[in-house]
This record gives sequence, structure tokens and C-alpha cells, in this order.
Amino acid sequence: MTVLTGDRPTGPLHIGHYFGSLANRLALQDTHEVFVLLADYQVITDRDLPGEIQRNITDVLLDYLAIGLDPAKVTIFQHSALPELNQLLLPFLSLVTVAELGRNPTVKDEIAHSSQAAVSGLMFTYPVHQAADILFCKGTLVPVGKDQLPHIEVTRTIARRFNERYAPVFPVPEAMLSRTPLLGGLDGGKMSKSRGNSIALKASEDETAALIRRAVTDVDRRITFEPETRPGVATLLTIAGLCSGREPRELAEEIGDGGASALKRLTTEAVNEFFRPIRKRRAELTEQDARAVLAEGNERARAVAIRTLEEVRQAMGF
Ligand code: ATP
Ligand code: MG
Repeated sequence: MTVLTGDRPTGPLHIGHYFGSLANRLALQDTHEVFVLLADYQVITDRDLPGEIQRNITDVLLDYLAIGLDPAKVTIFQHSALPELNQLLLPFLSLVTVAELGRNPTVKDEIAHSSQAAVSGLMFTYPVHQAADILFCKGTLVPVGKDQLPHIEVTRTIARRFNERYAPVFPVPEAMLSRTPLLGGLDGGKMSKSRGNSIALKASEDETAALIRRAVTDVDRRITFEPETRPGVATLLTIAGLCSGREPRELAEEIGDGGASALKRLTTEAVNEFFRPIRKRRAELTEQDARAVLAEGNERARAVAIRTLEEVRQAMGF
């Protein structure tokens, strides 16, 4: 079984990534072949410029190493180092219709949050690019957050259609959801790097406290766990629960009439305690360590991509 996951280098990783996807990768690295992609080309799907791309790549690499991804077991690589991915994109585009791309609910959500005045072609086609990311290494298992499920469906469709039309080259991959498939952000929406509502893994303890202090809650002093009607409170309880290994409901009962300030205090302590060793490890790593890992991973991944592209060309009769 081969595992492929990735992140866009749009900023440092946050605790939603940790519980939503990174924790699964950690568990899989001992038993599976694991590829981890820094999707640098995908940064420009929803913005005009790649921004502080090198800084962000380094940040994400340091996050990976700090949480315990082991470069001896995991291949960490980036889009822009594998031109073969772009060459796979082309035949894959011929396997989906414009209507299918237009219906994709994740693309619609990302368009809604995009900073661009108009939607680019890349925004519509990036789920297909993602199919190339997954299929180049013949990935069979894709640990992702819930927002990515429609994309995995596109990849499955492309794998099936390619196999039917040409030759059975690709496995049909499965998504793997964690037990926290969608962690809320501090503003009530999905926690996202680019939406200013996240707690970064690398945040200091004081920054964590300040972020949680500003989190949206409500005026009801009695703390209860009701995700539908009290999403802000429920998100903090969920975060505190994940970090302390306890049930959100139980924590709510314990806080009782303590109000939002008690909830925020407890959440801050839980986050800081859980991430303390990760943050300590991160501070000890150097940018050179991170860059060396990427250079080696790029080389390993590229060899695989060249092989798959050759198989695709052969199957298509090119
Ligand atoms: P951006 O705002 O730049 O899109 P993001 O926070 O959405 O950043 P991505 O790099 O797009 O992060 O996603 C990386 C992986 O993390 C994906 O598998 C995605 O499903 C997962 N993920 C992202 N946000 C969350 C979240 N809030 N809860 C659980 N999983 C998440
Ligand atoms: Mg995203």
C-alpha cells in the first residue's frame, strides 16, 4: 500500500492539520510507503502570487520534522521539482468533463474564500492536478481532511477511466479520514492557514493564549457541547478534548458555569501542554536540515514519476 498526502505551502501548519491528517501519516510511516507533497504550484490556485513561498516551504518542512515524520521512511517532495506531474495532468484532463469540474463542492467553497476577483482556470483544474499527485506514485491510500473528499472522488474517476480507456495502469485510491476530519477555526469556519483563524503548531505559548482569547464564543455562561447551535464553544471544547485525550462533553460539564474565560483558559493549557515537546523539537531544527530532506525527497519522487509517465505514454500509444 502506498500513501500520498500533502499540504499547500501557504503558511505554517496548524493544529487542524495535526489532528486531521498529520497524526495519521505518523501512524502510517512505519507500515506503508509514504509520500508527502508540498503542493507549491497549488498555492496560486486562489491567489495571484505565491507570496513568501520559500519561507512557507521551510516552515512546513520544519513542522513535518518536528511532529516526527522520519525522512528515512517518508519521501517529502514538491510539485515544482517534478515536471512529470504536469505532463500527467494533460491526459488526465481529457478524462473529466467541464461539468464535473464545475460541480465540485470543494472548488466552490474555495472560490468563495478566494482573494481573487475572477476565478482562474487553475482553480477548476487543480483537482485533476491532484489526481496526478496521487496517481504518479500509484497511491492507494490518501489521509485527508473532509474538505478533500470530492477531490479524491475525481482521482478515483480518472484512475478508473484511464484503466478502461487504455490499460490497467492505476490503482483506485481510497480516502482515509481521521477521527477529526474537520477541525473548526477560531472564527467558527474551517480552520485554515489562509483564513487567519488557526493556531499554528509553531505558535509560542503566549501567541496561543492570545489567539484563543480572541476566539468567537457566545454570551451564555453555562458551557455545553452543542456543535450545531454553539459552534464557537464546541470548537474550543473539541480542541481541548483532542489535546487532553478527553471527551468534549465531559470537559463542558466540568467547566459548568465558568463561562468562556474558563473554557479559554483550559483550552490554552491543553494546547500548550500537548504541543510543548513538538515545539521544543522544532526550535532545535535548522533550515538546512529541512532543505536537505526536500532535496533528497525530490530526487526519489522524480524517479518514480518518470517511470509512471513512461507507462502512461506506452498505454496511450505515444
Ligand atoms: P489553505 O487555507 O492555504 O487552503 P488549509 O489549512 O486548508 O490551508 P491545506 O494545505 O489546504 O490546508 O490542506 C492540507 C491537508 O490538511 C488536507 O488534507 C486537508 O484536508 C487537511 N486540513 C486542512 N484544514 C483542516 C481542518 N481544519 N481540519 C482537518 N483537516 C484539515
Ligand atoms: Mg485548503
